[in-house]
Amino acid sequence: LPIAADGQTPVRVLTIAGSDSGGGAGIQADMRSFALMGVHACVAVTAVTVQNSLGVSGYQEITPQIVSDQIRAVVGDIGIGAAKTGMLASSAIIEAVVTTCTESGIGGAGPIPLVVDPVCASMHGDPLLAEDALDDLRTRLFPLATVVTPNLDEVRLITGIDVVDAQSQRAAARALHALGARWALVKGGHLRSRDHSPDLLFDGAEYLEVDHERIDTPHDHGAGDTLAAGLTAALAHGYSVPDAFRFAKAWVTRSLTAAYPLGGGHGPVNPLW
Ligand code: PLP
Repeated sequence: LPIAADGQTPVRVLTIAGSDSGGGAGIQADMRSFALMGVHACVAVTAVTVQNSLGVSGYQEITPQIVSDQIRAVVGDIGIGAAKTGMLASSAIIEAVVTTCTESGIGGAGPIPLVVDPVCASMHGDPLLAEDALDDLRTRLFPLATVVTPNLDEVRLITGIDVVDAQSQRAAARALHALGARWALVKGGHLRSRDHSPDLLFDGAEYLEVDHERIDTPHDHGAGDTLAAGLTAALAHGYSVPDAFRFAKAWVTRSLTAAYPLGGGHGPVNPLW
């Protein structure tokens, strides 16, 4: 990747996401990937979670106005090559993000690609999005997305499709694409067997599957964020969506290989070159 030379302004990205006090997921995971990938990370904080390796015990939302103001402040001055959304918490924050991204040329027909990681809950099942905000995610945010990156739980919530095999994974990709995302990335997790993790990308015409060995570790906190952050940084570096997908899949697999234990629960993935 083209890392900026000393004294030069590097490629910039924006993450619109929540903070994880345990340092494993959310903004903190994004920043680790972005730093390693040679991009400068701007941040619009949406919520502050109270979280450790055992789960999320609460969170405080940031006001929609301040979320919008953070986006405007960095886009107008610093300029960004790609953006990513993670935890958005509520309908009001989704609406603020959609309005501000649209006016800033982020996602949709704008020049700045937008990766939407539709975060609904933590791996422990703690909610990170209000139940009544699912519809806004589908109808307001998805049409702006260059790529959406749901895991299988999020696919079920968003499309109602239970992905159990390659056929239902393709059906889910079509359903997500029909909601307006330019590309749908359906992460396979341990869909096929204990040894494989097939992820599927669909642009409305062709399917691209990338299958890596499945890394069996309890320390996978922040894996979804790390994949989406890798994708976002690669897009900012000028990669096409399929190439950014191939890169991000390898990135998260390596990060899982290097994951480490932390506290009494699930440790974080550890992005490394
Ligand atoms: N906390 C925050 C702020 C997040 O953004 C996310 C996921 O995006 C999580 C927690 C959940 O991460 P995990 O599913 O790895 O527990």
